Amino acid sequence: MRDLTLAPRADAGLRFDLDEMARRATEFESQPASASIRWAYERFEGRVVVAASFQDCVLIDVAVQAVPAIEVVFLDTQYHFAETLWYVDRVRERYDLNLTVMQPLVDRDDLWQIDQNECCAIRKVEPLARALDGKDCWITGLRRTEAATRAKTPIVHLDLGRGLAKVNPLATWTDLDIDGYKTDRELPEHPLKAHGYPSIGCWPCTKPVRDGDDPRSGRWAGTGKTECGLHGWPEPAQNPLPRLGGETA
Ligand code: SF4
Repeated sequence: MRDLTLAPRADAGLRFDLDEMARRATEFESQPASASIRWAYERFEGRVVVAASFQDCVLIDVAVQAVPAIEVVFLDTQYHFAETLWYVDRVRERYDLNLTVMQPLVDRDDLWQIDQNECCAIRKVEPLARALDGKDCWITGLRRTEAATRAKTPIVHLDLGRGLAKVNPLATWTDLDIDGYKTDRELPEHPLKAHGYPSIGCWPCTKPVRDGDDPRSGRWAGTGKTECGLHGWPEPAQNPLPRLGGETA
């Protein structure tokens, strides 16, 4: 089993021009999301992966318009809703995606009932680590308004735990931005969005929420767990790159 602790690596920044990344992080605050994707693809000579949750296809739509051949990764935890798998097929049809589907190496059927962190490690974190083998950068759909834990998401930063660049092109987008983009681009909607699921993960760990509730409150509801472990980054004091708008931690 790989080391999934994502502890900061002493050599994480050596492969990257941190000044350039910091400068780009600031520049992209006022540029279209496609600019950061195009930059990452060119800067890292294609060694870039888009990690897509398939709750919607906004990030995919932006990414393939910027770089049609870009690789998209879907983590098939084997606990997705049937509606999510249906939606993956619809999105594949629409975009002719360069899609890689990653599955867990270990099958522990009951683990989510016993240890959700370990279950996420086996079904999400480790498969993502395999997908990122040989890459320099990964691109995610994290947005600042999604949760308090994501409020300081930079558009470009060093993922210290993985020793990779990480780009979050939609970091500045609000829910209104997302809705407007879906309408303008006539994007297909995940079927569960109309049934009280604003945030969708695995079926054992996702509940519908009431109007006005925190959209992510249905994820691991009642357990205190708020993140699956894919996006944990070190405390700002350990991260040499800007958190927001050029502010260097
Ligand atoms: S979200 Fe739940 S079922 Fe999915 S990997 Fe994490 S603990 Fe397991």
